[in-house]
Amino acid sequence: MISVGLDVGGTKILGVAMDEEGNILAERRRATVEHGEDMLVNLAELYRLLIEEASTAISPAGESPAEVAPPVGVGVPGLVDRTGTLVFAPNLRGANGTDVRAGLADELSNLGPVIRVDNDATCATAGESAFGAGRGRTDVLCVALGTGIGGGVVTGGKLLSGASNFAGEIGHIVVEAHGPPCGCGRRGCWERYASGSGLGRIARDAALAGSASRIVSLAGGEPDTVRGEHVMEALVEGDAEAAVIVEEFAWWLALGLANLANIFDPEVIVISGGLVKAGELLLEPVRRTFRLQLEGANVRPEIEILPGLLGDRGGAIGAAVIGLEAAGTAILARPDGSA
Ligand SMILES: [Zn+2]
Repeated sequence: MISVGLDVGGTKILGVAMDEEGNILAERRRATVEHGEDMLVNLAELYRLLIEEASTAISPAGESPAEVAPPVGVGVPGLVDRTGTLVFAPNLRGANGTDVRAGLADELSNLGPVIRVDNDATCATAGESAFGAGRGRTDVLCVALGTGIGGGVVTGGKLLSGASNFAGEIGHIVVEAHGPPCGCGRRGCWERYASGSGLGRIARDAALAGSASRIVSLAGGEPDTVRGEHVMEALVEGDAEAAVIVEEFAWWLALGLANLANIFDPEVIVISGGLVKAGELLLEPVRRTFRLQLEGANVRPEIEILPGLLGDRGGAIGAAVIGLEAAGTAILARPDGSA
């Protein structure tokens, strides 16, 4: 069965048509329109284009197309309730309150596909778990480091959804009660320390204290303009001050990972986002400081920490995965080996 995955980001929508083995049969991008109604029209149009391209790819002209409309999963940035309504979208305010599932069902009423809508990071978790670094594992914690921290949990072969479908907002666990303020209204949230912007903040503090000279020069000479990518650039060059900053950053990242690992006991932790391009330079200190903070690290099986494999396609691939699962096709690895 083919499935369509649509990943709505702050600036673009990425759509894929995929088969059950995770092969991408068609792919399209388009700019995000903030207004909820226009977004639904765009999603419906992408769906039609993708299934048309995908069916041409698998069945040459002349053969009859599939009778059943392929399922579609949609990932959107924000809190999505069980009905598929985007109830809180701080980074896509025009779409706040949009019932994405019902609206898309209206737009596609002549085709009637199975539709599932979920949080974008939850979709990315499904993607990495099904066809990325968590493939074949039943217990996966996914952590995406960007401006904030997104994530999700697969436990016993199932995506953790919670009572209201809002589970997985891992960026807002508090790691420092008196820490810097967060957009959510509290202080000291994990994403203020362990995201790409958290890394930038740690580096700016170091720069303002008079160190991090190479990082400041990469940022154009002003401490205020230092961002996470400047730190990673200096780190890859072998800059010792960058290594000190990354060591501190890795400790904060590992602190949250250890908190989450104590709760969810994952088999593997998958870290994605631009920062993991630094590879072992980042992952080695994260693994080392994670072990120091994890309860019983010496007596429990190792929890692997791996970089994500799907890059910025993870959300769209995962959206296609939740579409397939909603249509009754098991894709995520199950404890009894049924998928
Ligand atoms: Zn917060």
